[in-house]
Amino acid sequence: MESKNLYDYTINDVPAILADNVDAIVIVDPAIDAYKSVLRRGMFVKFLKDSGIYHDLILDLWFHFNDSNEKVVGDYQIFADNTGVFKNKYSRRLKIVLEEEKVSHLVQLTVYPFDNASKYIFVMDEFNDNESLQESLTTKKINTIQNTYLFSMYIDLVADTTSSINVTEISDDVVNYNLKYSDWRMMIVNMIWPEDQEQFLRRTDPEYLKKNFTPGRTSSYDCMMRNLEGKFIWVKLIFSRAKTFSEDDYRFVFMVQDINDNSMELMSTLQKYEEKAIKDPLTNVYNHGEMETQLNSALAYRQKSDNAVSFMMIDLDHFKSVNDNYGHSVGDTTLKHFANLMREFAAEKKIMAGRWGGEEFVIVCRDVNGEAALAMAEEFRKKVEEYQFPEIYHITCSIGVTEISKEDDFTEAFNRLDKAMYASKHNGRNKVTKL
Ligand code: GH3
Ligand code: MG
Ligand code: MG
Repeated sequence: MESKNLYDYTINDVPAILADNVDAIVIVDPAIDAYKSVLRRGMFVKFLKDSGIYHDLILDLWFHFNDSNEKVVGDYQIFADNTGVFKNKYSRRLKIVLEEEKVSHLVQLTVYPFDNASKYIFVMDEFNDNESLQESLTTKKINTIQNTYLFSMYIDLVADTTSSINVTEISDDVVNYNLKYSDWRMMIVNMIWPEDQEQFLRRTDPEYLKKNFTPGRTSSYDCMMRNLEGKFIWVKLIFSRAKTFSEDDYRFVFMVQDINDNSMELMSTLQKYEEKAIKDPLTNVYNHGEMETQLNSALAYRQKSDNAVSFMMIDLDHFKSVNDNYGHSVGDTTLKHFANLMREFAAEKKIMAGRWGGEEFVIVCRDVNGEAALAMAEEFRKKVEEYQFPEIYHITCSIGVTEISKEDDFTEAFNRLDKAMYASKHNGRNKVTKL
């Protein structure tokens, strides 16, 4: 285009200037669901067809995830502003990844409705490297938002409407979406982990929200939700009621935040602490509290079923003399070695073993009758007798065994068990007795 003096330009020059500088111009007729490209250059030669289906174009323009050409599909379209009904001018920034490429193109899209908003003109421009220098920051921000805040919606409970908040750009762009809140809620619930669905429905119930949210109040809870790849991840569902002065204005912002990585870390920490709470620190077998729980639940199991349950109590023989002759720390080492032996044995026999206190241990055997428990106890007694402990070389133990009857309560069962163990002591130690 020829160069002119500034003051010689008129509106007639504008089409040529735009045609030279804009990357793509598309005319849309939503009534027949069609678009026609009147200008395509650069990446748009591949991205746009000469003419095509408007709905497909809108889906292609929906943001791509994590710099891939994957698009929002299926259920997730309830979050996407893919209806593309434009009554007003509209502008957004998007990332487009072409099918055969890995790199994403940063594109500015502006939509002008015309002909009484019955048709639109889409003007699209790609930022080149220089132009997008400043935009790369924006892109980073977009990624952060996409990665942490999956979706945001405006909800109006009184009008029963939802509108999606565009998370692909920095503006608080709202796209009116013709989906009723009540319908939207019933669609989202299918993306929630089955066990969490009831809670989701309860907490998204319009009456619940009205009752529990004063204006300006924000509240959240965590649950598992299916992500775009169909995998369940931990998300935080955040509801925030708009701070308005009218008592019967119930507008909310709803946000879904991806908290999966943090939650997974937290869970494994919790699991570690949980384990600590039920383990004895010296011997690393179950502690007294956990064994009490196990004894009680085995008693309940016996009462409810016809399956056998047996208990064992083990006390180390003359343990005091280990401390007296070798010192307390050798005593501790002996307890650790004994506990290791017992843990291995319990794992092999699928029984639960723990430290009752001092040098006393108990074992809970489900689905094992008295005779079988007696045989097991005898096998373990021998194992201990033959084991080479550091420094002290040998130590023995006395074991009591009892089978639980349907009528037994804790005290009765435990007294019998204690008696059986003491009978082994009285009979010369290094013995097994069943009562
Ligand atoms: P018996 O054969 O009659 O059971 O004799 P015993 O010496 O084992 O019995 P007693 O109950 O008199 O002594 C138990 C000893 O166990 C006393 C205590 O010092 C020791 N003991 C208890 N807990 C620990 C521990 O955690 N570490 C060490 N080193 N010793 C412990
Ligand atoms: Mg003792
Ligand atoms: Mg003892």
